[in-house]
Amino acid sequence: MAVALTPGLERRLKAEIAGEVLFDRFSRGRYATDASHYQVMPVGVVVPRDIASAERALALARQESVSVLPRGGGTSQCGQAVNASLILDCSKHLTRIVKLDIPGRRCVVEPGVVLDDLNRALKGHGLWFPVDISTSSRATIGGMAANNSCGARSLRYGTMRDNVISLDAVLADGSRAHFGPVSPDLSGLPVFSPLRRIARDLLRVGRREADEIEARYPKVQRRVGGYNLDAFVPGRNELNLAHILVGSEGTLAFSTQVELRLSPLLGRRVVGACHFGRFYEAMDAAQHLVRLGPIAVELVDRTMIALARDIAMFRPTLEEFVRGDPDALLLVEFAEDDHSENLRRLMRLHEVMGDLGFGWNNSGPKWGGVVEVLDPRLQAAITDVRTSGLNIMMSMREEGKPVSFVEDCAVPLEHLAEYTQRLTEIFARHGTRGTWYAHASVGCLHVRPILNLRLDKDVKAMRAIAEEAFAMVKAYKGSHSGEHGDGIVRSEFHEMMFGSRLVRAFEEVKDRFDPAGLFNPGRIVRAPKFDDRAVFRYGPDYRAQEIATVLDWSAFPGAGGGFQGAVEMCNNNGACRKSVGGVMCPSYMVTRNERDVTRGRANALRLAITGQLGPDALTSDAMAETLKLCVSCKGCRRECPTGVDMARMKIEVLAARARKNGLSLHDRMVGWLPRYAPYAARLSGLFNLRDRLPAAARLSEKLAGFSQRRSLPQWRPDRFRDSAPAAQAASAAEVVLLVDTFNRYFEPENVAAALAVLAGAGYRVHVATPADGSARALCCGRTFLAIGAVDEARREVARVLSAVAPFLARGVAVVGLEPSCILGFRDEVPAMIRSDDARRLAAHALTFEEFLAREAASGRLKLPLGPISRRALVHGHCHQKSFDAFDAVTAVLKLVPDLSVEPIESSCCGMAGSFGYDVDTIDVSFAMGELALLPAVRQAEPDTLIVADGTSCRHQIRDGTGREAVHVARVLARSMAASDAGDHHSAPMAATPVASIAESAIAPPIDLQTYR
Ligand SMILES: Cc1cc2nc3c(=O)[nH]c(=O)nc-3n(C[C@H](O)[C@H](O)[C@H](O)COP(=O)(O)OP(=O)(O)OC[C@H]3O[C@@H](n4cnc5c(N)ncnc54)[C@H](O)[C@@H]3O)c2cc1C
Ligand code: SF4
Ligand code: SF4
Repeated sequence: MAVALTPGLERRLKAEIAGEVLFDRFSRGRYATDASHYQVMPVGVVVPRDIASAERALALARQESVSVLPRGGGTSQCGQAVNASLILDCSKHLTRIVKLDIPGRRCVVEPGVVLDDLNRALKGHGLWFPVDISTSSRATIGGMAANNSCGARSLRYGTMRDNVISLDAVLADGSRAHFGPVSPDLSGLPVFSPLRRIARDLLRVGRREADEIEARYPKVQRRVGGYNLDAFVPGRNELNLAHILVGSEGTLAFSTQVELRLSPLLGRRVVGACHFGRFYEAMDAAQHLVRLGPIAVELVDRTMIALARDIAMFRPTLEEFVRGDPDALLLVEFAEDDHSENLRRLMRLHEVMGDLGFGWNNSGPKWGGVVEVLDPRLQAAITDVRTSGLNIMMSMREEGKPVSFVEDCAVPLEHLAEYTQRLTEIFARHGTRGTWYAHASVGCLHVRPILNLRLDKDVKAMRAIAEEAFAMVKAYKGSHSGEHGDGIVRSEFHEMMFGSRLVRAFEEVKDRFDPAGLFNPGRIVRAPKFDDRAVFRYGPDYRAQEIATVLDWSAFPGAGGGFQGAVEMCNNNGACRKSVGGVMCPSYMVTRNERDVTRGRANALRLAITGQLGPDALTSDAMAETLKLCVSCKGCRRECPTGVDMARMKIEVLAARARKNGLSLHDRMVGWLPRYAPYAARLSGLFNLRDRLPAAARLSEKLAGFSQRRSLPQWRPDRFRDSAPAAQAASAAEVVLLVDTFNRYFEPENVAAALAVLAGAGYRVHVATPADGSARALCCGRTFLAIGAVDEARREVARVLSAVAPFLARGVAVVGLEPSCILGFRDEVPAMIRSDDARRLAAHALTFEEFLAREAASGRLKLPLGPISRRALVHGHCHQKSFDAFDAVTAVLKLVPDLSVEPIESSCCGMAGSFGYDVDTIDVSFAMGELALLPAVRQAEPDTLIVADGTSCRHQIRDGTGREAVHVARVLARSMAASDAGDHHSAPMAATPVASIAESAIAPPIDLQTYR
C-alpha cells in the first residue's frame, strides 16, 4: 500500500464523512507516537463521528490505496498503534454503550469506550468489566480487544480473549461480519456467506497446524503473541470466531462493536503482604502462594519500596504495612464471596510461608512473613504506592530511560526465580539494570532496562538483551509477548518463538483477511526489525535546534538549557487523557481532542524543537493553537507520571512568540494590569462602565478580545493601601503578608480579613511594601508570565525580593492570599531568578492556609474561633492542588467549630486568569466550569457557604451560578467575630489589634446572607 500524502483522499474525506479530518503536519505529528519508543508519521487522521463515517473512511482509503490504522487511546507499548497509514481515532466519538443486559451480565459497546467510563456506568448495577489493566483511565475497549489485554487479576478473570463474547467488524473488502460463538461444524453460518468461508479456512489452518500449535504455543496463560490459531484446532468444545480478531492488533479488520462478558463487583477483600529477605526467595515462593487461590499476586521490589519511601505522601502508607527491610514484597489478594473464606485463606498464607521456612525471627534470605491488610483504605493506598513507584521510576531525568521490550515476558511459575535472576545477569552483562514489578501470579513480571536509544551502543545492547532474553524464555517454554502485544517490538521474534511454519500460517491468515494490506501493515507479520532506527522516536537524525529559553531547565538534559529534556519527559503513556478525576487535563476533558491534551502538546513541542514540523514551528500559529486551551492549571506538573510541566513550557512558547511578534493590545491589557491598576482604581467609576454600557463591552470585545458575555472584575475605590499595622508586641511571632494585585484592587475585604485573622492569632504582621519606598504596590509578576513577558515579570519579582529579603534572612514566613501568586514563588520564580533570595523565598512562601495549618499543627496557633453552623463547599484552586496546598485549606476550615467542610471534586474552574475573558476561549472556559464545579455549586443548599481562594474561581462561580464564593480568610474572620459575640471556644488571644491597615474597615463581619 502506498503511504504518500494524498490530497485526493483528504478532499474526499472532508466532503464525505462526518467528523474531523486532520492532514496538517501538527496533527499527524501528534499521532506519530504511542507509548513505545517508535515514531511513524501517519498519512492523516480521521476522527469519525459515527460508525458509518468510519466505514466510509475505510472505503475511501481502500479506493486511494492508503492503509488504515484503527486507534484507541494510543497507549500501546510495542508500536502497534503507529503506522504510515490513515489513522481512524475511535476514542472521541465512538463511545456509545449500545446495549446493557444486566441479568445476562453482558453489554455491547462501541470500540472507543474507555474501560473506566464503562465500569463507572456498570457500578450502580453491581457489575464490572474485570480486565483491570493499569491504563484503565484511557485505554479503549477496541484497543484492549485488539491487544488481548490482561489485568492484574487475570488469574481469576483471564485475558480479553476470555471476556469478549463477540465482535462486529468491517472487513478489508468493506463487508460487515459478526464474529462470535459458532458450532464447530459452522452450521449456524449462512452457506455462502463470506464469514463462513473465512471460518472454514481458519479451521483448515487450525487442523493442519494442530501438532505445531501444540508443540510451539506456550502453555502459560499470558500468551498474547501471534494470532490465536489455537482457537481453531480440532477437538475444542466451543468455537468462537471472535478469538481471531482478539489480539490481532488492527491487522485483520476494523471492530465496530464489542460484546463483553461482565462480572459481579468484587466484595470485601483481604491482602496478605508477604515479606521476603531476598528477591529470589519471593520469586520462588510465588508458585506456592498461587495454590491458595488468590485473585492477584503482585510484586513490589526493593527499589520500588525505596522510591516510594522517598515520597512524603507515601511514606505513611509504607510505615503502616512494611515491616523491616524486605528485598521484595508479594501482595497476595483474596476476594471470595464469603469473607470468612478470605480470612481462612489468609491464615493458610501464614502457614504456607511458615512451611516454606520464612519467619520474622530468621535472618538472611529466609527472613519474612505475612502482614495482614484488612482495611480497604490501606489496601487502596498500597495499590497507589505500587503504581506511583513505577511512575517515579519512569520519571528519571537522564537521557537513558527504562525501555519496554522484554517487559512482559511470561514464564511458568516454577522457573520464575531462575528467570528473573538470569535476566538480571543479562542486564548487568550489558551494563544496565532493571526494576521488577507486577504480576507474579501469572509469571508475567514487568522489567525495563535503562538504555539511551539515541546511542548506537545502547541500541545494540537492546538487541543483544532481547535475543538472549527471548532465547531463555523459549527454553522455559514461556511467552515472549505476555501482555502488551507484538507491534514492532515482538513481531520479528515470532519466527524464533513460534517457528517458521507457524509464522507462514500467520501470514496466510493475514492474507486471507486482508490481501492488499489495508489494515495496519507490518505488525504481527512482515514487521520491520525491532531495532530499525528509521522508525525510532529518537532516530539517527534526531537533533534539537538550539533554542533561547527564558527559564531555568538545568534539571534536564539537552538543548535550550534542558528544555529539550523536559519536553521529552512525555513517554505517551496517556494518563493525561482521563475523562474524570483530578485536575489534569481540563481542556482535554472538555474537547477530547488529542491536540488539547498534555501529551499532544508535549509531542508537538518535541517535534517542533527537533525541526520535524517545519521551520519556526515553535513560534508558529499552529503551535499557538496547540497551546491555546492549556489553562496553565499545573495539573500535569503533579499528576503526569513523569512530571511533564506544560504550564511552564507554555511560558517558553509565549515568550518566544512575544519576541517574534510583539504583544497584542489584549496581551498588554492583561500583562500590564498591575502597572495601570492604581490609575484604574482611582478612576474606578469610569473603568467599571465597561460592564454597565453594552456598547463599551462590545468595544472591548472588538478592540481587545475581551468577551462581552463576561463581566470584568470591578475596580474598587476603597482598594487596600499598604499601611503599617498598629504597634504589636515585639516578642510576638512575625509573619509577612504579601498583598496581591487582585485582592488589593478588586476585593480588599479579603486582605482586611486576613490581617484581622493573623493579628487576632497574635502575630506581628508586616505588610510587604516596596523597599525603595515607591508608591506602586508590589506584584508577583504572574500577569506578565501569562503573556510571556518574562523580563517584566522578573522586574516585579526583583522588587518583591528586595522587599522581603530582610524578613527572609530572619526566617519569617511570607504569606499570600491568591494561590497562583504566592505559589509562583515556589514554582516559576526560582526558574526565573537564580539567587539565594529567590531560593529563600521559595522555601518561605506559604499560602495563608498553609501558614495557619503549619502553626496549628505545631500547637502555636491561638485563634479565637466561634461556631458557624453551616456546610462549607470548598473548591480548591488548581495550583493549590498542584502544590499539595489544598489539604491545608480544608484543615484550616475544620478549625471552625460546627462548620461542616466538604471539598468539591473539581478540576480547573476554567477561568484561569484571562482565559475565561477571551472571546475565543470563553465557551471552553464555561465548559470547564461545567465539568464539576458549577453543577456542584448549583446543587448546594442556599445556606451552604461556597469557599474558593482563587479570585478567578470566585468570578467563574459568580458568572456561572450567580452565587458568591468567599476566601477562607473571610470565613475565619467571621468565625472570629462569632467568637467575640459569644465567646465560644476562644483560645487565649494575644491581643495585637491591627489599626489603620486598610482604607476598608478591618474584616467587616461577614453577612452570610450575601452568600446565599
Ligand atoms: C503505563 C502503561 C501501563 C500498561 N498496563 C497494561 C496492563 O496492565 N495490561 C495490559 O494488557 N496492557 C497494558 N498497557 C498497554 C496498553 O495500555 C493496553 O494494551 C491497552 O489496552 C491499549 O488500549 P488503547 O485504547 O490505548 O489502544 P491503542 O494503543 O490505541 O491500540 C491498540 C491496538 O488496537 C488496535 N485497535 C484499536 N481500535 C481498534 C478497532 N476499532 N478495530 C481494530 N483494531 C483496533 C490498534 O490498531 C492497535 O493495534 C499499558 C501501557 C502503558 C503505557
Ligand atoms: S504528558 Fe505525562 S501523562 Fe500525558 S502522555 Fe505524556 S507522560 Fe503521560
Ligand atoms: S497545565 Fe493544565 S491545561 Fe495545561 S496541559 Fe497541563 S493539565 Fe492540561
